[in-house]
Amino acid sequence: MKKILFVSSEIHPLIKTGGLADVAGSLPIALDKLGQDVRIVLPYYGAIKLSQTPEYRCTIRVNNTDINILETPLPNSSLTIWLIDAPLLFSGEGNPYSDEFGNAWHNNAERFALFCRIAVEIAQNRAHLHWKADIVHCNDWQSGLVPALLTQEPNRPSTVFTIHNMAYQGVFSKETFYQLNLSNQLWHQNALEYHGMMSFIKGGIACADHITTVSPTYALEIQTAEFGYGLEGLLHHRHHELNGIINGIDLEQWHPEKDNRIPQNYNLHSLNKKADNKSALQQRVALPVDNSIPIIGLIGRLVDQKGIDLVIDALENILKLPVQFILLGSGDKGFEHRLKNFAHNYPDKCAVTIGYNEDFAHLIEAGADMFLMPSRFEPCGLNQLYSQCYGTLPIVRKTGGLADTIIDALPQSIADHTASGFVFEESSTGAMIETIKRALLLYDNKPIWEQLQKNAMGKDFSWENSAQKYIEVYNTL
Ligand code: ADP
Repeated sequence: MKKILFVSSEIHPLIKTGGLADVAGSLPIALDKLGQDVRIVLPYYGAIKLSQTPEYRCTIRVNNTDINILETPLPNSSLTIWLIDAPLLFSGEGNPYSDEFGNAWHNNAERFALFCRIAVEIAQNRAHLHWKADIVHCNDWQSGLVPALLTQEPNRPSTVFTIHNMAYQGVFSKETFYQLNLSNQLWHQNALEYHGMMSFIKGGIACADHITTVSPTYALEIQTAEFGYGLEGLLHHRHHELNGIINGIDLEQWHPEKDNRIPQNYNLHSLNKKADNKSALQQRVALPVDNSIPIIGLIGRLVDQKGIDLVIDALENILKLPVQFILLGSGDKGFEHRLKNFAHNYPDKCAVTIGYNEDFAHLIEAGADMFLMPSRFEPCGLNQLYSQCYGTLPIVRKTGGLADTIIDALPQSIADHTASGFVFEESSTGAMIETIKRALLLYDNKPIWEQLQKNAMGKDFSWENSAQKYIEVYNTL
């Protein structure tokens, strides 16, 4: 049994902007079930609304400031979350990284440096919590200073740094580094210095004892210039301490048999019931209610990474096909505007909902027939996993976790019942549309389509496998 401090800047269901929250809300529970002692540390953001008041645990002094640590349980588990209560830094409305207008918080370096400092105090049992970590498991740039700070401590725990997305790095000026009052020893090429700037993510990559990322393919991709954002050399240098572990999914929330947010539950033996969700979805977005028209769904952040520009460029041609297209997402205002225009011009074929809506996301997964994910890069991706679980066949670009989790429907994989979706390689509208057409051909062949749905739904996406792989990593340290 290991004592693991899990450091994350978001955790579902308390606060979520993306996949990291899903991982942070599930992996600790899976580790706990496998006998590990896991505690979680999270900033107490203004946007976190708890049903019960968190309990005061202690006050600690870091960088000449007194900070309270509160405690609250992770819902649906017996796990403890330690909340860093620093209202001056974290109480603003908005999301963990930006204000309600989408501008990054001006003091993000200060906010997350404090978060990291307190994580170190907790890990080293200096926070009056009577608990010392064996392993500190950090996630993404917001926790990148933790492995760096811990290199300066005698008797320190081992550190793991998981990269959920290389595109977000936490890079700040040299002046910021000095304002943060960090040890000068950390201003070093093998620590936080990055081309004359300070990089939080580099602290994690350079200083952690082990690095993981969220799929084996992405672990290779980030060692190349295209995906490494200037850190590919360092990542390649550390490739012996770097591996990829695919995320699981929370099957309590994302399983069509148990999902209490959808009108009709179903499983792979009652696939005909999926049609009820399809009609509910069509009704909800005011598209013609017709079970015979295939629905292509898309949920996600509307940003370049997700290939939304490709979708927009191809949408006119996609809408010439016998399909309905239903999108839920928010992000780039230009993308939002263009997508809404399509919905306006094609009211019978295209529905666009701008915003973040967990319930609606479940209905799309349950009601659509296909799920489009033409990402330029995708560290792991969760929606293609949910989609397979719901028998909503994903159409994806072959990159990162999408390449690792979808088996393309080709004659051989159809015959041996391994096919679970549709895959294209080139990041182009042509390749995407050809693949959508390939999917539509099979959609018209009901026995084959149903078999593909069953292949996808029969796969094991539980966290247990992945958690076991993390334990193997902890055990090598
Ligand atoms: P990323 O972390 O890059 O955003 P992932 O596929 O790993 O992408 O995870 C995204 C998660 O956020 C999924 O659980 C997805 O359903 C959810 N999500 C993204 N956008 C929305 C939205 N507009 N409404 C509801 N859920 C969303």
